[in-house]
Order: sequence, then C-alpha cells, then structure tokens
Amino acid sequence: MKLTISIIILVFSLGCNSNAQEAKNQKTYPVSKTEAQWKSELTTAEFQVLRKKGTERAFSSKLNRIEEPGTFVCAACGNELYKTRHKFESGTGWPSFDRPVDEKNVDYRPDRTGGFSALEVLCANCGGHLGHVFNDGPRNTTGKRHCINGVAMDFIPKKK
Ligand SMILES: [Zn+2]
Repeated sequence: MKLTISIIILVFSLGCNSNAQEAKNQKTYPVSKTEAQWKSELTTAEFQVLRKKGTERAFSSKLNRIEEPGTFVCAACGNELYKTRHKFESGTGWPSFDRPVDEKNVDYRPDRTGGFSALEVLCANCGGHLGHVFNDGPRNTTGKRHCINGVAMDFIPKKK
C-alpha cells in the first residue's frame, strides 16, 4: 500500500513538473530581461499582457480607433509590429490586422491553454505576448486576423 502511494506521488510530481517543460519551451530573444526588470519597466497592465499573457478587456484600448497612417510598435521594446494600412475593423474590440509589418518581426507559438487551439503571436525581438492569430480575417487579402492587445503596443504616427 505504501509503495502504491509512493508511486502515485512520484507520478503526480513528475506530471506537475512544469518547470522543466517551461525551460524547454523557453526561446531566447534578442532582448532578454528578468521578470523583475520587466516589472519595473512596464506598467502593470503592460506587464500582465506582455509578460503574463493576459488579455485586455475588449473595447478598452484607445488604439482600436486609430485610423491615421502610422506604425504600431511593441510597448516593451519598440519593435515595429503592424501598420495602420493593414488594420481592419473586426468588431471584436481588439486592434485587428491582416498581417504584420514583416513576418520576421513576430513569432508564433501554438497555444492550447484557453481550451481552444490558437496560434499565439509574440514580439520576435523581446518575446512579449501580443495576442493571437486566427484564420477568419478578410478573405480579399490574407484571410488572417491578428487579434492584438492594444496595451502591448504604442502607436507612432507617420511623419507628415
Ligand atoms: Zn518587443
């Protein structure tokens, strides 16, 4: 009986050993900082989304309404992510784009945490969580919908 319990505990602790799993999934990005550094540099809302993979409340970002030409950059590292000309009104309440500035500027990772299968979008420069990409974007362009948290980005208007 005692042995059985020990085995159960052993199996259980192996199964819960997510640290090893996490370490394996850790990719090194050009901009790499400790959690404490990010926490001191980002606002609480930015930290929750970019470093903790949180999701901002729908319709909460002022970037939703931006229509003027310009570039959306990573709020953590300034990497260029999206252009206004690729932005479209998805009705979801999050800034939506049919493509990034350059596919090299973003990174994708399968995400099954939400009970649904989606592709996570990250900043390719700092590994910050941006949002998700879905295949229900505009049919007349790429068919992709990059659903991005506004708080993860800053907007730089195009110089006139
Ligand atoms: Zn970044």
